[in-house]
Amino acid sequence: VHLPEKIAATVEHLSRIPGIGKRTALRYALFLTRRSRDDLHALADSIRGLQEIKKCQKCNLLSDDNMCSICRDPQRLELGIICVVEDIVDCLAIERSGQYRGHYHILGGVLNPLMGIGPQELTIDKLVERIKEENIHTVILAINPSVEGDATCSYIKQVLPDGINIDRIGFGMPMGGHLEHLDALTISKALENRKRM
Ligand SMILES: [Zn+2]
Repeated sequence: VHLPEKIAATVEHLSRIPGIGKRTALRYALFLTRRSRDDLHALADSIRGLQEIKKCQKCNLLSDDNMCSICRDPQRLELGIICVVEDIVDCLAIERSGQYRGHYHILGGVLNPLMGIGPQELTIDKLVERIKEENIHTVILAINPSVEGDATCSYIKQVLPDGINIDRIGFGMPMGGHLEHLDALTISKALENRKRM
C-alpha cells in the first residue's frame, strides 16, 4: 500500500527524530491528519519558530534572546558559581532538582579525539573568559561520568586560572550514567557530595 505523498513526507521527517521509528512516525502522522486546521497551523508555526532560537552569548544555553533568563537573573550572578554541563538537558535536570542557584556554562559536548571533538569544538575558551570577567570563585563540573567526561574535566582543570575552586559532581553515578535520567533527589545528593578536584 502506498501512503499518500503528504503522509509519507511527514512520516519521513518524524522518523528522523531519535527514538521515533517508522511505525511510531506513521501513528503520529495519522493522528495529525485528524487534528483541526488551526492545530496543525499552530504546530507548524512552533516548529518554524525554532529557526529563530538563539544561543545565549554568555552560557550557550538555547534562548529566545541574546542572553538567557538564567544569565539575566541578577540574584544568580551574586553567587559567583558556574556549573559546567555538557548539554542543555543536563542543565534542565539540575534546574529540576531546585538545589542550585548559580549560573551555567554549556560545553556543547565532551572531548572526543576519535570523533574529532577537540577543545576548539567546545566552549572552553569562553568559559575561561567568563571566569576572568565575572568574578567567579567556584566552578562545578557536572559532566557525566565516562572516559571522555573524565578527560574533559582534567582538561578544564588544567586551563582554568589558579585560585578557582573546582568541584566535580556525580561521584556514585555509574560510568556512562546521565544526569538527565536521574531523579531530583539523586541530583541534589550529587550536588551536595561534590568533590574538590
Ligand atoms: Zn545564559
